[in-house]
Amino acid sequence: MNSLEVRQLAYAYPDGTQALFGVDLTIARGERVALLGPNGAGKTTLVMHLNGILTAGHGSVTVAGTPVRKDTLKEVRQRVGLVFQDPDDQLFMPTVRDDVAFGPANAGLRGAELDRVVTEALERVGMLEAADRPPHHLSFGQRRRVAVATVLAMAPEILVLDEPSSNLDPAARRELAEILRSLDVTVLMVTHDLPYALELCERSLILSGGVIAADGPTRELLADSELLARHRLELPYGFAIPAV
Ligand code: ADP
Repeated sequence: MNSLEVRQLAYAYPDGTQALFGVDLTIARGERVALLGPNGAGKTTLVMHLNGILTAGHGSVTVAGTPVRKDTLKEVRQRVGLVFQDPDDQLFMPTVRDDVAFGPANAGLRGAELDRVVTEALERVGMLEAADRPPHHLSFGQRRRVAVATVLAMAPEILVLDEPSSNLDPAARRELAEILRSLDVTVLMVTHDLPYALELCERSLILSGGVIAADGPTRELLADSELLARHRLELPYGFAIPAV
């Protein structure tokens, strides 16, 4: 079973800007895949198609066998867990617990079952102790982890993370990596942090100019300096791909 299938997805914004020109990709259940690419490549546009914020101008998106369409949006949004770059776009309740309970409660969970789901999601991101605190009292890294928990509480088929390492200090960045590695869930992460992609994702895609320009083992892609340069991707100063 594939978590995600995108076929010949093309999309132009209402002003005529063509952002995607026929994207094909398949992500199998349990894979962790990085989506790399320069600014303007179409990454955000692609992500917005995964849970139907935008709908296909041409082509199709299928999540765990369910096509993303107007009549399947409710189901698709439960299955695709989008973690925004800014956790403050995702957390708006008085306590961490309320934020994590929001989605499952909306989906009809109540009482002990709801408590169990919330506790489990917070445990998975190491934030159970903060359950009764207001999100705005937490550090940025903690808020990002709570944002991940809000999505995990919906038992998603695929977790889609937008720049998960942005604005994190090195310790928080490493803690989040450990959490992501421990999750038994399909992950697609959009990132400019190439070492993070290497650390967490065996496979990477390069989206460039609205098409998939490369799809392969992260290590191989990042070792190809010409490929990186062609798509305005750069490893940090002094970073060398470690030998296998
Ligand atoms: P990325 O996330 O990789 O930086 P985007 O998906 O944001 O790329 O953008 C892809 C292309 O679509 C760019 O040319 C961008 O200028 C254009 N674009 C993005 N949002 C809009 C919009 N709302 N209206 C028109 N063009 C847009």
